[in-house]
Amino acid sequence: MDKREVLRKLPKVSELMEEDSIKVLEQQYGRQLVLSAVREGIEEVRRLIERSLEMGFEIQADEEDFKREALERTVKLASRYGSYSLKKVINATGVVLHTNLGRAPLPEEALKNIVDVARGYSNLEFDLEEGKRGERYDHVRGLLCDITGAEDAMVVNNNAGAVLLALSALASGREVVISRGQLVEIGGSFRVPDVMAQSGATLVEVGTTNKTRIADYERAINDNTALLLKVHTSNFKFVGFWSEVKIEDLKSLGLKYGIPVMEDLGSGVLIDLAKFGLPPEPTVQSSVKAGADIVTFSGDKLLGGPQAGIILGKKEYIEKIKRHPLTRALRIDKLTLSALEAVLKIYRNEDYEKIPVLKMLLKSPEEMEKTAKKLAGELKKVVLDEGAIEIMDDASAVGGGSLPGVELPTKVVAIAIRTLSPDDLAKRLRSARIPVIGRIKKDKFLLDIRTLSEDDLKVIPEMVGSVL
Ligand SMILES: *Cc1c(COP(=O)(O)O)cnc(C)c1O
Repeated sequence: MDKREVLRKLPKVSELMEEDSIKVLEQQYGRQLVLSAVREGIEEVRRLIERSLEMGFEIQADEEDFKREALERTVKLASRYGSYSLKKVINATGVVLHTNLGRAPLPEEALKNIVDVARGYSNLEFDLEEGKRGERYDHVRGLLCDITGAEDAMVVNNNAGAVLLALSALASGREVVISRGQLVEIGGSFRVPDVMAQSGATLVEVGTTNKTRIADYERAINDNTALLLKVHTSNFKFVGFWSEVKIEDLKSLGLKYGIPVMEDLGSGVLIDLAKFGLPPEPTVQSSVKAGADIVTFSGDKLLGGPQAGIILGKKEYIEKIKRHPLTRALRIDKLTLSALEAVLKIYRNEDYEKIPVLKMLLKSPEEMEKTAKKLAGELKKVVLDEGAIEIMDDASAVGGGSLPGVELPTKVVAIAIRTLSPDDLAKRLRSARIPVIGRIKKDKFLLDIRTLSEDDLKVIPEMVGSVL
C-alpha cells in the first residue's frame, strides 16, 4: 500500500466530533478545546504512520484501528489542554522547604483570607478610619513590630529583592563592609557580591574565609562607609576553626563611627527552634535585640508563609528605603499580603501548630510510624502481587537553604513494582492526574511521610493505582 492510500484511511475531524466519547469531552472542556485536541490527535496518528512507513514497516491497521488510536490520543490531549500547567503536586520527597515545589504550604487561615481579599475589592491602600489614602504596609507593620520588637517594618516581593533594595537605598555609591566568610551564593544565581554590585554599593571584604574579627571591620571603615553588613550563611555550615563577629559587637562599632548595621537573615525564624528540639537558628527577635538597624528575611522559608521579603528595623532607615524607586518595582501584591497578615496573626497568638512548615518539622517518629503503617496498608491493597511495600527508617532534609546538614529522622514507605524500575515508577507518578513526587535512594522509590498531609494520604493510593 502506498503512503497516500494509507493516509486516506485516517478519520476526519467531523467524523470524530460525532463520536459519543468526544461529545462527553465537549461538555467537560468546551467545543474549541476539544476541536484542537481532535485535530492534534489525528495529526499524531498521521505522524506515526509516516514515521513507520519511512522506516520500511508494513502497515496492517485499518480505518477502525486508526480511529481508535486517534480517539485515545484526543482524550489524553484534551485532559492535558484542559488542566492547569501550574498545579498541585504531592511532595513525598521529605524536603520541607522544597524551592522547586513551591516552598511553604500555607495555613488554612491564610488561604481563606486570600480568597476573601481576591474575590472583591479591599482596603489595600485605603485608610478606613480617615477615608483617605493609606499604605499597603499598614496591614502587617503592627504585627511585625509586635512580634519582633522592631520600630518599623515593610514588605517586598522576596528577600533577594529586600536585600537589593536595602543596599540600593542605604549604600549606593558608597562602601559596605562584609566578612569574606559571608560572601555566599544562595542558589538561583543570588550571590551576595553580585547583588551588592547591582545595588551600586562597593563591596569591602574583610577578614579571611574562616575567621573575621571586629578589628578587621574597624580597619576598613572610612568616610565613605555606608553600612556594616552581616549575611547569615544559610545553606552551608562552618565546622572547625572559625569565628564571626556578633551583631552586638558590630553594633558597638557602628555606634562609634555612626554607621548603621544590617543583617540578612535569609530564613526568617520567629520562634526559638531549639526549644522544639531542632538545631538553633538566629531569630529575627535576637537580631533586632542585638541592635541591627535593618534586618531582612524571607516569608516562605522557615517562617512558613507566602513568598515575600520582610525588611524591618529603625524607622529612619525604613523611611529611606520606602522612598527609593526600586520599592515600587519590588512591591508586594495584595494576595501575598493577605496571606502574610494571616500567618503573622498566627505567630502573635502563638498558635504555631497551625503553621504547616513547623508542623512538618516537628512531626514525631511515633506519629509518622502510625501514618506510614496506614499508608502502607492502603498501598498494599492497590499494588497486590505486582510488587512490594515496605516501611523503613530514613532522614528528611529541611531544604530552602535552611538548616544545612540537619537530618530529621523520618519514616518512609518504599514501593517496588516488579515490572518497573524505580525511575520508571517515579516518571509515571509524575504524570499522574495529581503528580506524586518521591525520592529514589539505593534503587528504591520512597515516599517520605514527613511532608505528606492528611489529604495526600488519601490521594496517593489512588494515584499509584492509576499508573500501574
Ligand atoms: C534565601 C536567602 C535569600 C533570598 O531569599 P528569597 O526570599 O528566596 O529571595 C537571601 N539571603 C539569604 C541569606 C538567604 O538565605
